[in-house]
Amino acid sequence: MAKNKMVYSFGGSKTEGRAAMKNLLGGKGANLAEMARLGIPVPPGFTITTEMCNEYQRLGGKYPVGLKEKVKKALARIEKDMSQKFGDVGDPLLVSVRSGARASMPGMMETVLNVGLNEKTIKGLISKTGDERFALDSYRRLIQMYANVVMEMDGDILRDVLDGYKKKKRCKYDIELTVEDWKKLIARFKKEVKKHTGSNFPEEPWKQLWGAIGAVFESWNGHKAVTYRKLNNIPSDWGTAVNVQTMVFGNLGDTSATGVAFTRDPATGERIFYGEFLPNAQGEDVVAGIRTPQPINEARKSDPSLESLEALMPKIYRQLDNIQKRIERHYTDMQDVEFTIQENKLWMLQTRVGKRTAQSAVKIAVEMVKEGLINKKTAVMRVQPEQLDQLLHPALDPKAPKKRIAKGLNASPGAASGKAVFSADEAEELGAAGEKVMLVRLETSPEDIHGMHAAQGILTARGGMTSHAAVVARGMGTPCVAGCSEIEVDYKKQVFRAGNTVVKKGDEITIDGSTGEVFLGRISTIAPKLTGEFGTFMKWVDDIRRLGVRTNADTPKDSAIARDFGAEGIGLCRTEHMFFEEDRIAAVREMILADDEAGRRKALAKILPFQRKDFIGIFKAMEGLPVTIRLLDPPLHEFLPQTEKDIKALAGQMKVSPAKLKARVAALHEFNPMLGHRGCRLGVTYPEIYEVQVRAIFEAACRLKKKKVKVKPEVMIPLVGHINEYIPLEEMTRKVAREVMKKHGIRVQYLVGTMIELPRAALTAAEIAAHAEFFSFGTNDLTQTTFGLSRDDAGNFLRDYVEKKILSDDPFVTLDQSGVGELVEMGTRRGRAARRGLKVGICGEHGGDPESVKFCHRVGMDYVSCSPYRVPIARLAAAHAVLEEEERKKQARKKRSKKKKK
Ligand code: PEP
Ligand code: MG
Repeated sequence: MAKNKMVYSFGGSKTEGRAAMKNLLGGKGANLAEMARLGIPVPPGFTITTEMCNEYQRLGGKYPVGLKEKVKKALARIEKDMSQKFGDVGDPLLVSVRSGARASMPGMMETVLNVGLNEKTIKGLISKTGDERFALDSYRRLIQMYANVVMEMDGDILRDVLDGYKKKKRCKYDIELTVEDWKKLIARFKKEVKKHTGSNFPEEPWKQLWGAIGAVFESWNGHKAVTYRKLNNIPSDWGTAVNVQTMVFGNLGDTSATGVAFTRDPATGERIFYGEFLPNAQGEDVVAGIRTPQPINEARKSDPSLESLEALMPKIYRQLDNIQKRIERHYTDMQDVEFTIQENKLWMLQTRVGKRTAQSAVKIAVEMVKEGLINKKTAVMRVQPEQLDQLLHPALDPKAPKKRIAKGLNASPGAASGKAVFSADEAEELGAAGEKVMLVRLETSPEDIHGMHAAQGILTARGGMTSHAAVVARGMGTPCVAGCSEIEVDYKKQVFRAGNTVVKKGDEITIDGSTGEVFLGRISTIAPKLTGEFGTFMKWVDDIRRLGVRTNADTPKDSAIARDFGAEGIGLCRTEHMFFEEDRIAAVREMILADDEAGRRKALAKILPFQRKDFIGIFKAMEGLPVTIRLLDPPLHEFLPQTEKDIKALAGQMKVSPAKLKARVAALHEFNPMLGHRGCRLGVTYPEIYEVQVRAIFEAACRLKKKKVKVKPEVMIPLVGHINEYIPLEEMTRKVAREVMKKHGIRVQYLVGTMIELPRAALTAAEIAAHAEFFSFGTNDLTQTTFGLSRDDAGNFLRDYVEKKILSDDPFVTLDQSGVGELVEMGTRRGRAARRGLKVGICGEHGGDPESVKFCHRVGMDYVSCSPYRVPIARLAAAHAVLEEEERKKQARKKRSKKKKK
């Protein structure tokens, strides 16, 4: 370890890192170095590597041997470049100390600014800037940040002291405070620090610097960072780098400013330089949303009272615009940049790949191909499958009645309704209990991350498009209206006011994150229409993927939605859902209660026309595409009432005695229904049920084929564990199919196959495939039966399993590749060995989970099947699977040729 380079310089006279070194230097450090290489003005500094962070943690909070020397040397280089000295009374060098992990974790770790200021060096700063008020303000910022970040003092204490002081002085803004005020406040701050931490604020610059570096390292394991890592699957052993950089000040009067900007609009993807700035301010003022940020350019000016940077400082704006164009061309991706203007000199403080909405991601990817910046494959990899979920969110029904109560910024698109809650904890609690909640805050902070995740939507009264709420919500794909100054939030009373309307905790509201509007009550939504760039993008996706994508649907409406989303057929039509429909549940119950086969057949005859109609609708919606229909699967007791009261009511309706109904319910009771009389076991005991379903399928198919509608039915027999269960049911299916086709004088091409959802089925896949024409892996049941985990009960404790890292994911969401996946792989292999060309798919929930879809690709399946709204996600994941495979092969080839050369 000691051999590895510990510190990398950037800016000024020496730049050692580059963009490709993100793993070692973190995103911020690597990109600062890259900008410096491009000749872009970056305040000189250095980066302590992520390896040092890991080493620091390994040593139990001690600095690795040799690090202090390296830091000293690197700082001496900055002193030389800046002609300043750290701790110098005449002209002190001041530095910022910032975190910077490999992946961007906005606001999750710590920063300390103005390190190097103390009672002595402040004099130098005053004489250099000629601005005592500014120098004192900088000093108090250091004390405030340092106390909170390094000395772990509650941040509210000093904030309250400052707010209380301003109130007493009847000041609204810091800028109204005088030199004397700041002096008093600094003395008060120091007293409070001593009182609450038992230590004095350290005046010694080097002590400050090492305290700040240690605090950044420690913040890697802070609560916020750990939560964020968990939510974003960021490994805990990546560590954070620390960037120590010359301070530049955006708060040195009217010729200074600070801002954040995107090279394209992060919400819509429009090719327009887009950002916000604050004159005479420091960076955290922009993000905190305390003052209203101003637009960067005239093109994006929505409020005429706010002056743009373009109008205020045209020369600097042009320089910034040129730099952002160069940066985007260099990185060939949309960038999010931070800058500071100190006395008419522009400094770039950060560039990173900008977070964006799904809509924006797709538009940018498509346009960058047209601009010749990237190729189609790169474009496809630029959009994450899960991200598409945002695009597929329903929008507000334009015809639905609405009562608009306020309007804010359209920070993150999509519409959502929920009960208003005013704290993140409450949002989390109610969310976990299955409630839909809307998190309403003055502004959000990283502490609110858990509540933001649990909420359907986020509404804040303050903050701009780059405020914490806006950035985080966009990343999460959660609808958000930010900076809604038309609402007044009262945490104490747990209400917010919008004009004359008072919304109390628990009242339902709706937000439209695409327009920024806030409405009273719940509003109905409509499915989104996907056109334009999305269509182009998905065409590229389809050109790349090999895996087919079908849908799980059991109504014509869902089938049509799925087809619009690109489904290439139905992989699972669950017929039981049809049995619950109002017009047939009585006949289903009559069938279940019948004493003998004749009674059952009589009831089934009533069900047949309904089923036929269902299938006609679905076949039509999926014309020309395969439709896999699963015969009845759940245990029969699911169709009967369970409580005494409901049994009595139904007995009355059915004109049977409550005692008879009760006895039948009791007879059907099972201790372990998931492993009981269900699936093909029902077909074995009551073949007439399956027979009627098969008849309905083929009657529907023949009637449509007569009308020249192309139908491709696939009959699927569920829960087969032994080939001897399958054989008679397959024979029955073919016999009924023959009879119906003969009667209609029509031939329909069809397949008969099975679900593989029991370990025994996977193990005996060769025997089953000798008869079955297709396999569809029912990984919901296969996960249940492989783990021995009840899919209906495990939710309660699986979260603990994931939290305690016993399992990396909920196996009912993401396929357990090494266990259940092994059975899937083996079943596929054994099945295909027995029957060449055996069609293999998956219809468990995993068919819509990107990682599981990629696994299905690797196993060589023919298709995945998922719910309609996940179809585009599965299509994109399938394309990513191909491209990732290509990349793996390329890397392997590279490795081999390197070896050969050696
Ligand atoms: C399965 O078990 O994976 C499956 C698709 O069937 P169901 O969820 O209906 O049991
Ligand atoms: Mg199943």
